[in-house]
Amino acid sequence: MATIEEVSVMIVSNASQGHINPTLRFAKRLISKGVHVTIVTTQLVRDRMLKYNNVTSTNTNSQNSQNKQIQFEFFSDGLSLDFDREKNTEIFINSMRTTGSKNMSSLITNLAKTRDYYCIIVDPVLLTNIQNLAIQLEIPVAFLWMQPCATFSISYRYFSNINSFPNLDDPNEKVELPGLPLLKVRDFPTYMLPSFPQHNRQIMVDMCQACDNNVKWVLANTIYEWEEECVKSMSNLSPVYTIGPLVSEFILGENEKNNVSMNMWNAEDSCIDWLDNKPNSSVIYIAFGSIIELKQKEVDNIAMALKNSKKSFLWVIKPKLKGYEKDATKLPIGFLEETNGRGLVVTWCQQEKVLSHPALACFMTHCGWNSTVESVSSGVPLIGYPFWLDQPTIAKIIVKEFGNGVTLNFEVNEVPSVEEIERCIKEIMDGPNAKEIKNKAIEMKEIARKALVEGGSSDKSIDQFVKDLVHAHNFARA
Ligand code: UDP
Repeated sequence: MATIEEVSVMIVSNASQGHINPTLRFAKRLISKGVHVTIVTTQLVRDRMLKYNNVTSTNTNSQNSQNKQIQFEFFSDGLSLDFDREKNTEIFINSMRTTGSKNMSSLITNLAKTRDYYCIIVDPVLLTNIQNLAIQLEIPVAFLWMQPCATFSISYRYFSNINSFPNLDDPNEKVELPGLPLLKVRDFPTYMLPSFPQHNRQIMVDMCQACDNNVKWVLANTIYEWEEECVKSMSNLSPVYTIGPLVSEFILGENEKNNVSMNMWNAEDSCIDWLDNKPNSSVIYIAFGSIIELKQKEVDNIAMALKNSKKSFLWVIKPKLKGYEKDATKLPIGFLEETNGRGLVVTWCQQEKVLSHPALACFMTHCGWNSTVESVSSGVPLIGYPFWLDQPTIAKIIVKEFGNGVTLNFEVNEVPSVEEIERCIKEIMDGPNAKEIKNKAIEMKEIARKALVEGGSSDKSIDQFVKDLVHAHNFARA
């Protein structure tokens, strides 16, 4: 009979910033339960780990203090390290489906000869590549959903034909779905919409099919109490184990001081000293994750609104990759001088350190789920500036379900106006509801803190998952 101490899992992760952070954090949680974790990802991650993360070796059983017990294994996705995967997603996905998939399969097959893996945990982008291999290797599959339960529920109900949906070409059509607020088509994840590239929609179709077939566990980076009705509504369809918030322990007030993140770019730590000199709850933090690239008009409008607001701000504008510099947007001439020392613009930062700084007043975010989870877990109110994918749905949840933020109103395919950005800044910092929003943010943070302590809802879900693994393994071997 197997015991928990013998459990080994493999987490196979896409190399994007938004996938590698929750992967590392989940790995740490599993390790704390005594599980051995191997992370399988691409050589791009290895390259960035060595360049930007004070890591000197990524040999298996990495010696760096942050990821002491994680075994890393890397494969080539078939593209050169400086290829812009975010900009050329179709080429990237095709390469992953062909060369990448072949390399990944032989790596996983070889690893499975060296260890008795109880489960392969996969992110949605790689699920289809892994399914058949896992069947051949007779290893059960779990699926790590790095979005809220809400977007899983909406997508699953749509792609598996569970509920009827209105015409998705009309952004103003409404739909009522179990466990969710009233939604308009404009609030849906954009990967559901007919206008979205077919290769990305296909990932979702495949994912839903996999959940109906050989995925044994759906693990979601959320908290039961954050999305109770939605989680309950999935229990008879495709039950969700809520295992979040996948953030660094220090955000939740645990003893560990380390930032469990992997920087894909060089973080400018000077911004923390800069924040140290700002009064509490005074600074607007603006960042749009690792993929979004603002258009010039968007940069101009944000800059003008920040200038007019007279508030302090810290703004992350990610650098262009080598060879693409000429496409970079520019700050309006004289903007930094005119904002007179109250603003700092950096190319990348340790976002969780920034979010947990007392100087922060609010976070203007694209509503990427990691950024949202990190901000909610830090008690920082949000200004939602959604672009695409799951972001419109997350912006809706922030306002309608969490109550810890506001969101910009703007038409689909339009750029938010200066006045609208100013309105949101005023509302969240000085408006009549500012105090209520802040109180709600503190309440949400408290829920996050309790979820992962011993006996909390997410802690129990992780325990249950590990017990299930042992049970499934014993059953298969019986
Ligand atoms: N992030 C960071 N520094 C920055 C901006 C972002 O470390 O300056 C991290 C952030 O903490 C989060 C991830 O990048 O973990 C972004 O993930 P998210 O899901 O929010 O957005 P995506 O990049 O997938 O669009």
